[in-house]
Amino acid sequence: MSKVTMPPPPANSNPFKLSTSNASQLPKFQEFASELQKCLSIRHVKEFHARFVKTNFSDDVFLVTRLAHRHLTCGNLVYARRIFDKMKNPPIFLWNEIIKHHSRRGLHQESLNVFRSMLESGVHPNEFTFTFVLPACAAVKSVSDGYMIHSLAIRRNLDSNSFVATALVDMYAKAGNVSCARKLFDKMPLKVLASYNAMIGGYAINEQCEKAMEIFDVMLKEGVEIDAVTMVSLLQACAYVGALQRGRWIHQHGMRAKVPINVYVAAALIHMYVRCGSIVDAQKVFDEMSDRDLVCWTAIISGFALHGLPEMAESMFVRMVREGLKPDGVTFVGMLTGFSHGGMVEKGRQYFNLMSESYGLRPGLEHYSCMVDMLGRAGKLKEAEALVKSMTVNPDAGVWGGLLNACRIHKNVKIAERVVDELLRLEPENAGWYVSMSNVYAAAKQWDGVVRMRLMMKERGITKPPGWSSIEVSKRIHRFTVFDRSHPQSDAIYRTLNDLEERMRKMGYVAEMSCVLGNFEEGGLKEDLLCGHSERLAIAFGILSTPSGEVLRIIKNLRVCVDCHTATKYITRIAEREIIVRDAKRFHHFKDGKCSCGDYW
Ligand code: ZN
Ligand code: ZN
Repeated sequence: MSKVTMPPPPANSNPFKLSTSNASQLPKFQEFASELQKCLSIRHVKEFHARFVKTNFSDDVFLVTRLAHRHLTCGNLVYARRIFDKMKNPPIFLWNEIIKHHSRRGLHQESLNVFRSMLESGVHPNEFTFTFVLPACAAVKSVSDGYMIHSLAIRRNLDSNSFVATALVDMYAKAGNVSCARKLFDKMPLKVLASYNAMIGGYAINEQCEKAMEIFDVMLKEGVEIDAVTMVSLLQACAYVGALQRGRWIHQHGMRAKVPINVYVAAALIHMYVRCGSIVDAQKVFDEMSDRDLVCWTAIISGFALHGLPEMAESMFVRMVREGLKPDGVTFVGMLTGFSHGGMVEKGRQYFNLMSESYGLRPGLEHYSCMVDMLGRAGKLKEAEALVKSMTVNPDAGVWGGLLNACRIHKNVKIAERVVDELLRLEPENAGWYVSMSNVYAAAKQWDGVVRMRLMMKERGITKPPGWSSIEVSKRIHRFTVFDRSHPQSDAIYRTLNDLEERMRKMGYVAEMSCVLGNFEEGGLKEDLLCGHSERLAIAFGILSTPSGEVLRIIKNLRVCVDCHTATKYITRIAEREIIVRDAKRFHHFKDGKCSCGDYW
């Protein structure tokens, strides 16, 4: 995904002033200065440096600063740092540049260290210092450093400077304190585009998508036009909540506002359409691009994979390689996901090997995760377990979790018990593993195991995360929790559900008792609670409030339970609707009584 960064503030004020050289040396001095100006590569600067140290200008602050800066602009941070460290009193310009370049290289902690030594040396930070050090602070998510820097900015009366304030908003949002970011944002006397971008991006990364949209609306009202950065953040927000209509509108608005569709925007568009369940639109964006980078190719490949179209993913992969691009680890995650969801074990193995053999990429956790899912789906549980044990990296909870899920599907309690031991060792507080293990027992009809897991959870004081599902109707997201009664149309929703259930029973539907007893993912044990699962409420609301025939797109934060999965298949036939559910793991395209996942998820 693209990186959303703030546009740089105006150049650090250049303090190069002729200082120490005496008049008789002036011509030679200027010669040096202009020669240095012409050095455009690391090698040239190094050569100049070698000659320079032998001259009697070698401790001229002006030239030394310039030399260090030249090293920086040519990308040689090591040499610049060496010079900087030897200087007795480096000018603030150089302090700032050193802070900035460490941060831009991803050396955020070092950037903060330099900032601290700056304070210790008694040098007062200026507005540039703040705008350079705050992104470093954001990157390491250090709220304590953030507060310290913020209070310094207040003391220096620089906190309301547009660039400093924007960097503060960005820092607080990225460090996770988005309400503090908002307070500062609201207080800013002058908001520039970058300020809006920082706030929208902050809400987007903190998954407060409605709030991101709210700032966007304010922005439009104030007549501030969006740019590519705004668009990427907004699309991310839409992707998260599955707001297809909103996302489509932002796409159109961007076109009208003539925002250049660069690779970042295109990748964000593809990602949004994929995550919102419209692979057709994603492909359209992809096809219309004039030049595509690896991120875009990978986005569309992963899109096909997630939507259960592994053959399409593979043909894209082949095309991409033919066009001369080299797949990376993320591309392979996409491919393997596709083969895993499609149950194509042989293909999966082939690509898993291709990865290291032809591209020299070492498989990581996600690749193993896909392989375990794939082998598990095919019922090759022993092979999957052996693969986990042979891994060159330590398996994480994601890998073991996939194996546990496979054990549920194939009702293999024995392997599951070994797996859950590993999982609870890694994540003893994660309610999901207790629930999954309980589901394995339930699937195998071992009710004492179900009770044991539930007691264990209770004893350890572990609570499960609340489940929710959402659906977008008329550009508004409606979110439901289990047995939710808070929606204004609640009565009608439950009437619809009961009506659907009656018709389902007539068609042969029987509530999945293993779900009733084993599934407490969304809380509750009574049979009637099943029909109150959040996705069913969202589906019923969708049927009620959209024209007949319209596709329903549901987002669910947990995995769909077996009973709801079965029920949804019936509902597609009764209501004659296509229903697309994005759960925590994948997409389910329900149509004519069938699901694209082939009942494996
Ligand atoms: Zn359910
Ligand atoms: Zn499914």
